[in-house]
Amino acid sequence: MALADYFPRDALAISQVLQGFDTDTFTEELEGVRVAIAFDEEAATSRDGRYLLDLSVRLAARLYPSLTFFPVSARAEFPDDLIALAIRINPNIETSKSGNAYVALSVGVHAPAVDAPTVHAGCDGWVATVGTEGPYSTSDLGNPFGAGFAACIAAANLFRFLFLPDGKTSLDTDASFPPDADSFPRLVASNLTDPLVLFGVGAVGNSTAWSLARTPLTGQIHLVDPQVVELSNLQRYILCARSDEGGIKVDIAGQEFGGRLRALPHKEALASFLEANGYRWERILVALDSAHDRRAVQASLPRWIANAWTQLGDLGVSSHSFLGQDACLACLYLPSQKSKSDDQIIAEGLKIPQFQTQVRFLLGNGQATGKEICDAVASAWGIPTKNLDPYANRPIRELWVEGICGGGIIPLGEAGPAPRELQVPLAFQSALAGVLLAAEVVIDVLTGGARRKTLLRQMDVLSPLGELSPQPALKAGTGLCICEDDDFVATYRAKYMAEEEIPVGVGLGQVD
Ligand SMILES: [Zn+2]
Repeated sequence: MALADYFPRDALAISQVLQGFDTDTFTEELEGVRVAIAFDEEAATSRDGRYLLDLSVRLAARLYPSLTFFPVSARAEFPDDLIALAIRINPNIETSKSGNAYVALSVGVHAPAVDAPTVHAGCDGWVATVGTEGPYSTSDLGNPFGAGFAACIAAANLFRFLFLPDGKTSLDTDASFPPDADSFPRLVASNLTDPLVLFGVGAVGNSTAWSLARTPLTGQIHLVDPQVVELSNLQRYILCARSDEGGIKVDIAGQEFGGRLRALPHKEALASFLEANGYRWERILVALDSAHDRRAVQASLPRWIANAWTQLGDLGVSSHSFLGQDACLACLYLPSQKSKSDDQIIAEGLKIPQFQTQVRFLLGNGQATGKEICDAVASAWGIPTKNLDPYANRPIRELWVEGICGGGIIPLGEAGPAPRELQVPLAFQSALAGVLLAAEVVIDVLTGGARRKTLLRQMDVLSPLGELSPQPALKAGTGLCICEDDDFVATYRAKYMAEEEIPVGVGLGQVD
């Protein structure tokens, strides 16, 4: 057995993207998968090549039971460092430096050929190149972004090849990303005059921290998250090793920062962080998974926000100022009047809508679900009542999350689409969203905030990269958002706009 002991979480994530998922068949299939990682001397010695390989191993070791490394130079210690990293992530993993493989990731133009279908990856500064038509070289610019994008997009290609029904015919052939990288500033050493804040150090925030820690920025970054690492997080937290279970998320991420950019960890929720540290922030990074928290960040009126997300079907990043015609972050997450209450979602998900009132009551007081509800669920799903017995003494939310959505009483994949809050992204999806988020803030820092405009970058890495130009987003103009509220606008202006920045002539009479 070489699968990670947190594999059930991988299975849950995968069941949400594969039609007709069957845990036993899938596990058996995955246990036989051998992935090769081949690379040349340039990749092993250049900064960006090393970043690409480092992130590739962090992604692959969480899922695949066997990694074979094919370095050009067996003398270099770097391959051994990568093997040690893989073992820290999954102590059960099998690693070797020879053998056959199902599929290969190849980095660098002189990487050894592997006798298996191969996805090539390379990078040049901000730009990732990925495809079956490679090979591609790796740059040595100290820019982790092209490398980070390439590692995630290549990992998505390996996943598609191995598991998606049309995966073998839907690989990227010769893709480069991002399409607008020509307009990006050169990544040079730059000092932050104001500290950054990263809210949320989960799967997305881990990869944002991985990226920022490898940039030449100097200054401070506050890392804010109240939680500790759970076993189920390890499936997609790229900074975490197996031994980090139970560790404090912000401390683990903070260790990644080597000193140029200094991390200040805060194990607390965003409200208490803001209360203690004030509400005036130049740049806030949002890697949170709830719409409510995103609206709360926007309502605290930072000068500028970048926000990343993952959901079934896509992932992406958006950046926001507050004034003008552009959408603020809250505009994108306005509560929908049609959204269902928890008790309705859960009663319907359990197939017992007739018990919605009791479900609401049980959710409210957290009492045991009880035999009557368990029997009703068993009968609705056509399964023996004894299968539900373990849940009779547990809260109903656990019956829903573990039993139905998590595959406890019905096979994974049979419960229908997971509701938003229970969706589990694949590691490369979260990681890509996190690298995008870091890139967004670094570009804003390097341009001194001169290009601020609400733009959404949205992509789906379960199919070949298409046309991915960032799209503008405007305020809805419904008057429902805080950015259309005079009091919020006045507060924002008072916070950030010195009097001389307010256009002459506004309410003051014309001055010549
Ligand atoms: Zn708004």
